[in-house]
Amino acid sequence: MDFNFSVEHGQLRETMRRFCEQQIAPLVWESEESETFPPHMFRRLGEMGLLGVRYPEADGGGGMDKIADCIIREEMSFVSQAYCSSWSAHTHLAIWPIWKAGTPEQKERFFKPAVRGEKIAAFGLSEPEGGSNIRALRTRAEKVPGGYRLNGAKLYITNSPSAAFVLAAARTRPELTPDAISLFIVELPSKGFTVSKLKKEGIRSSETGLIYIEDVFVPDDCLLGGREGTYPVILESLSENRVGVAASTLGIARGAFEAALRYAKERHVAGRPIAQYQAIAHKLADMAADIEAAKWLVYYGAWRVDQDNLDAATAAKVKLVSSETAVRVTEAAIRIFGGAGIMREYPVGRFHRDALVYVIGEGTSEIQRNIIARSLEIKL
Ligand SMILES: Cc1cc2nc3c(=O)[nH]c(=O)nc-3n(C[C@H](O)[C@H](O)[C@H](O)COP(=O)(O)OP(=O)(O)OC[C@H]3O[C@@H](n4cnc5c(N)ncnc54)[C@H](O)[C@@H]3O)c2cc1C
Repeated sequence: MDFNFSVEHGQLRETMRRFCEQQIAPLVWESEESETFPPHMFRRLGEMGLLGVRYPEADGGGGMDKIADCIIREEMSFVSQAYCSSWSAHTHLAIWPIWKAGTPEQKERFFKPAVRGEKIAAFGLSEPEGGSNIRALRTRAEKVPGGYRLNGAKLYITNSPSAAFVLAAARTRPELTPDAISLFIVELPSKGFTVSKLKKEGIRSSETGLIYIEDVFVPDDCLLGGREGTYPVILESLSENRVGVAASTLGIARGAFEAALRYAKERHVAGRPIAQYQAIAHKLADMAADIEAAKWLVYYGAWRVDQDNLDAATAAKVKLVSSETAVRVTEAAIRIFGGAGIMREYPVGRFHRDALVYVIGEGTSEIQRNIIARSLEIKL
């Protein structure tokens, strides 16, 4: 079988381009400088149907395929990776497990308002002791009458400073195997659940929090998918989302490349546009070639999701190649800009800082290489 973009995919890309140019681009400077995500934006994304892209129409979603989802991510990240990260942490990581494993009542209470942008959601998996190694997770959930009492901490949790609920992963029975992890929906504010906003180098306007969880009571009806029932859901969500993250990094790379190409044609040094110096022209040629290669790998990954046969190693390859491409391309863009590349008034510094986030977030490049190596039957 083969894949290609349909007419509808092309129309979606055009619509997204217009939306991002008109409604996101004018806000980017201010929100990056103030390191805040515009409060109205989730509502706006909800009205546009962008918070439920992948979910069935019967559940209030758009019923679109993964290729469409990646087009949306690519175009959003072309303008702002920070906006795309906040959107994605909400719509993919945080509400997907509820859609997949939630009760009808949990879907009514949490999933549907989140799809409409009325409730902002966050996904709390990473911890101070366990980022790359989720099996090292330490947050405890002790059974008490009527619910569970949670204790622990979560680190680098996107959207948590303004979230209406956080999906918190915790261990109900630490004596079981490391993958015996449960997910709880913690409604905020909640006594004992403290979120402090972190200052970041990359994706500054996407809000990220450090969470302390001290004797937080979560009622039984906020346990998701049964006790220790959600580890496969978490893994599935991470794998699929790696392809999405790759689409984001493709958008960043394109953003930096287009800015650098424009600049190189306009900027004159010693009487010639710098694009005509072979050293610069070759950089631009390498950037264009790298982006083309990443693009087809990303959409091949998306197509594999749509065929329902994405394996973890393929997802890892897609993310590794595209995110590392974005780091290389955005760095090259800074070099092409010369001194201007270091100035904040140009976007390429931001693109580079943002690209670095995704050789770390959602599994570092080293972790992707481990996954790929294991698929080659190498014992690490
Ligand atoms: C901006 C941002 C937003 C985030 N949002 C969320 C979120 O919403 N929800 C959430 O749950 N998490 C989130 N994260 C956390 C993210 O998933 C982790 O930062 C990431 O998994 C890496 O974990 P760590 O930071 O603890 O690094 P560490 O695990 O401490 O890794 C440090 C270094 O050691 C390397 N390393 C670790 N283990 C191995 C190994 N086995 N083999 C080889 N090298 C190894 C890593 O590759 C890395 O280079 C976010 C992170 C960032 C930066």
